[in-house]
Amino acid sequence: MASTAPTPAGIELYTMNCGTIAVSDLDIFAVSGDYAGMEDTLTDSCYLIRHPEGDLLWDLGLPAALLESGPQNNPPFTVSLETSLIDQLAQLDLSPADIEYVSISHMHFDHTGQPEAAEGATWLVHEAEHDAMFAEETAEQYQGFTAFETTKFTGDYDVFGDGSVMILELPGHTPGHTALEVKLAETGTVLLTGDLYHRNQSREERQVPRFNTDVDQTLASMDTFEAIAEEEQALVVIQHSPSDVADLPEFPTPLR
Ligand SMILES: [Zn+2]
Ligand SMILES: [Zn+2]
Repeated sequence: MASTAPTPAGIELYTMNCGTIAVSDLDIFAVSGDYAGMEDTLTDSCYLIRHPEGDLLWDLGLPAALLESGPQNNPPFTVSLETSLIDQLAQLDLSPADIEYVSISHMHFDHTGQPEAAEGATWLVHEAEHDAMFAEETAEQYQGFTAFETTKFTGDYDVFGDGSVMILELPGHTPGHTALEVKLAETGTVLLTGDLYHRNQSREERQVPRFNTDVDQTLASMDTFEAIAEEEQALVVIQHSPSDVADLPEFPTPLR
C-alpha cells in the first residue's frame, strides 16, 4: 500500500451504471437493529480502470436479463437495470474481448451479474472468495465465471505491478471480500469500498449488516480501510451510495 513508485500518468477511472436496488426495510443492514423499518434506494456501480498496461473491470453489477424482464421484487429488494456494461463499454469503443482483467469485490448477486462483459479477461479473485463461490451449494449460479482464465491470490494484489491499482483484502462481509485502491495523477488515491459499507450512515456508525459472514472480521477490515483512507487522504467511494457515485464524473467522462 505504501508504494513509493510514482503514479503512472494516464490512468483513468470510469464510473459505470450497474443498476438500482430499492430496499423496503434496511433492518438487514445493521446487527444493532438500528435500521429496522427504514427504507432507502441504493445505486449499483461498477468501474473501468484504464491503465497503460491494460483495462480492469471492477465489479459486474446486476444481471443484464433485467433489461428485458423489468424490475424484479424479492423482498426487501427491488432491483432494476437501465443499461448493460457491454453497451457502456461500446461507448468507449471497447468490447468484452478487449478487457484484460476483471475482478469482483465479492460474490453477491449485485456484483456478479454480467460476467459476459469481460469475456476473455483474466479473473483476479481472492482465494477465499473463489472457494466460497464454488462451494457445492452455490457453484451453479457462478457458471458464467468458469470460462475465465483465473488468477487466485491471498493478501493484497498489485494488478499492474506498479502499486497504482491494488486489490485490498478486507474480509468479513464475505470470506474473501476485497476493496480497490487506485492512484490517479490528478485526484490522488481513490478507494472503492466494495460492500465494506453500503451507505454513508453505515460508515459513520460502523454498522455491520446481519448477512455478513463475520462481524469481528468486518470491524477489523473497517479499521484497516480507515487507516489507509487517512494515510492516503483518499477519496472514498461507497459503491452503493447514490451521493458518492453522483459526485464522480458522469460516464463516459473519466476521473483522472
Ligand atoms: Zn454484498
Ligand atoms: Zn452489494
